Amino acid sequence: MAIEQTLSIIKPDGVEKNVIGKIIARFEEEGLTPVGIRMVHLSQQEAEGFYAVHRERPFFGELVEFMTRGPVVVMALEGDNAVAKNREVMGATNPDDADEGTLRALYASGIEENTVHGSDSLENAAIEIKYFFSDIQVFPRG
Ligand code: ADP
Ligand code: MG
Repeated sequence: MAIEQTLSIIKPDGVEKNVIGKIIARFEEEGLTPVGIRMVHLSQQEAEGFYAVHRERPFFGELVEFMTRGPVVVMALEGDNAVAKNREVMGATNPDDADEGTLRALYASGIEENTVHGSDSLENAAIEIKYFFSDIQVFPRG
């Protein structure tokens, strides 16, 4: 296995539910170390840019509205196999399908308000981390 970095976002519903600490603690327990963290209230343009791959999906407008309704916590997570590991800890997109104990099974209220984002590939992880962090805002721990 290789040390990777991936992007995580605690979405507005996670921030509203006051589970920032629980989610970060879980990542640390699972070997996903935060190496960059900031809180940001996305503008419409920033949310549209981040989710540009979903522009043609029917839920795009609602997704942007949801992601801009309050602040989010964006994190670069580092660890062995971090991209896949983060997806495993998050659980399926729809919390009804998410394995017991995953973050989405624990905290998400629906397929849209599903509490966490995680990059889906190493290539997208690098693009997404750069979207939110400059090089000097990320502190690799190796
Ligand atoms: P994931 O976040 O698991 O990678 P996707 O990349 O497919 O899932 O979708 C991005 C986000 O768009 C989801 O996390 C969720 O917030 C929202 N979303 C996905 N599918 C739907 C849907 N059918 N209806 C409403 N929102 C959706
Ligand atoms: Mg995705």
